[in-house]
Amino acid sequence: MSEAEHYGFQLPEELVMLRDQVRRFMREEVKPIEDKLPHDATGCSSQDRAYLRGLAEQMGLTRLTVPEEYGGNPVSAMARVIIAEESAKCRLGAYAPALGAFGGGPPNIIWGGTAAQIEQYGVPCVDGRKRAFVAITEPTGGSDPRNNISTRAVKRGGKWVLNGRKMWITGAAGADFGIIFARTSDGGDGVPPGITAFIVEPDYPGISFNEIGVIRALSPYEIVLEDCEVPEENVLGDVGKGFGVAQTWLVDARIPYAAGCIGIAQEALDMACGWVKQRPTRDGMLSGKQAIQWMIADSEVELRAARMLVYDAASKVDQGQSGKVDASICKLYGTETAGRVVDRAIQMFGGMGVAKEMPLERWYRELRVKRIGEGPSEVHRMVIARDKLRNTDGGIYFG
Ligand SMILES: Cc1cc2nc3c(=O)[nH]c(=O)nc-3n(C[C@H](O)[C@H](O)[C@H](O)COP(=O)(O)OP(=O)(O)OC[C@H]3O[C@@H](n4cnc5c(N)ncnc54)[C@H](O)[C@@H]3O)c2cc1C
Repeated sequence: MSEAEHYGFQLPEELVMLRDQVRRFMREEVKPIEDKLPHDATGCSSQDRAYLRGLAEQMGLTRLTVPEEYGGNPVSAMARVIIAEESAKCRLGAYAPALGAFGGGPPNIIWGGTAAQIEQYGVPCVDGRKRAFVAITEPTGGSDPRNNISTRAVKRGGKWVLNGRKMWITGAAGADFGIIFARTSDGGDGVPPGITAFIVEPDYPGISFNEIGVIRALSPYEIVLEDCEVPEENVLGDVGKGFGVAQTWLVDARIPYAAGCIGIAQEALDMACGWVKQRPTRDGMLSGKQAIQWMIADSEVELRAARMLVYDAASKVDQGQSGKVDASICKLYGTETAGRVVDRAIQMFGGMGVAKEMPLERWYRELRVKRIGEGPSEVHRMVIARDKLRNTDGGIYFG
């Protein structure tokens, strides 16, 4: 029986083929390279990366969010979640697109830029010549960026001058440029009020980076902006309209983010099943114990539910719906489920579960971050509850 039938949800044949293709690629090509890496390495040699990227390219697995006119191979949201789930099973896939086997693609918001910006910054990211970061969060808080962004951009001469600090920015060091969000006006000064997106290069005077060690191996960075001068032509989109652009991009990213977490957790559960079936106890294998079976059953049920929520959100996006609340639902449930499943898998492995020779403890640390990044669970609960309250009148008995 195919897995699609097993889940009782019939994925279209081409998506089943895509899933199997990515699964094979991860198992046969990416995993052997990953096996040679130190436990906490977040990338491989440039030679291995070029090799994997070349293969991924041949299979049509790269440039998935790049418009066709810029050399892209855009695919549906459903295809992206299928790829995200399978590719997250190896870390060289999980850190895609910036560092992983699947290569390329700048943050999507660059495609809303001018022709010159796309030429200078967007296109070189497509084939891996450039890499970018996105900086929204600040030390004063990331959960409510619309109100919390206090980095200021003031127009002086023909330039915008940025002052402020950004926190927890992934991939900032070594990037070729970043998209930094700053408050351009509170209104009343002739400048449209709101937040604006700027393209900033790391060698502009007045920008510096400090690594922040965190629970997972891939460190984020603090960015300090002290009278950092940005050319006027580096405003991305309209002045004062940056936040709307960021929101669309974030919604778009959350659904594959959840799918990736489910992929990691599925791998952990499958590993644990393999382990308990061959781990002897005084009276039979571990797999015969109800305590173990319940952990397996709960994990399987929750993972299936989480995957269906991801498919539901992706299919709504493919039908042209905004998917905002659905993205919050699958991000919340996907990240929390994945954390629980990996935790149970560690428990089933016992001491081996926390050993550095196994990937489980690394996944556990990575997944802990996922409940905070891309919006903490509590903020997604708030989004979901507000929507529910707005659209529900009390049902049959109270309405
Ligand atoms: C490893 C890592 C990488 C990251 N990469 C990036 C990046 O590349 N670019 C970027 O811009 N940002 C990035 N972030 C930032 C991330 O998006 C923020 O950490 C997140 O949005 C939360 O913001 P905060 O840390 O300031 O927490 P706060 O906003 O201070 O919130 C703290 C806690 O308070 C609770 N909370 C907040 N608001 C509410 C509410 N309304 N109701 C109830 N509870 C609430 C939540 O539990 C939350 O975890 C990254 C973070 C990490 C940890």
